[in-house]
Amino acid sequence: MITNKICQTCGRTIQWRKKWKNCWHEIRYCSIQCRKSKPKDLDRKLETAILEILNHKSINATICPSEATRLIFKEEGWQKHMERTRQAARRLLESGKIEILQKGKVVDPSTFKGPIRLRKRVH
Ligand SMILES: [Zn+2]
Repeated sequence: MITNKICQTCGRTIQWRKKWKNCWHEIRYCSIQCRKSKPKDLDRKLETAILEILNHKSINATICPSEATRLIFKEEGWQKHMERTRQAARRLLESGKIEILQKGKVVDPSTFKGPIRLRKRVH
């Protein structure tokens, strides 16, 4: 059975393609660009920052991903690192740690557009 996978870099769904039928088990990135920019220490720090900020809030609180971006990229120009933070958020979503919301509703991590909020996932 073929199941979709999640890109190890951007956290978006990788759609199965026929050209990958013999190597699907090896596919881990959705694009050459993602394969070239595998998560590094800084990206793991962004994941940790998101979780730590959420841990300091009440259980149903939501945060803007920019809080984590600012924590890691203290200098001016943190805005240009927002996509990196969104990628970290998608990876955390995939590992079941957080939810990604827009207007209070859970959104598809692969297709959302515009501002998002993050919330700790509670079981
Ligand atoms: Zn990707």
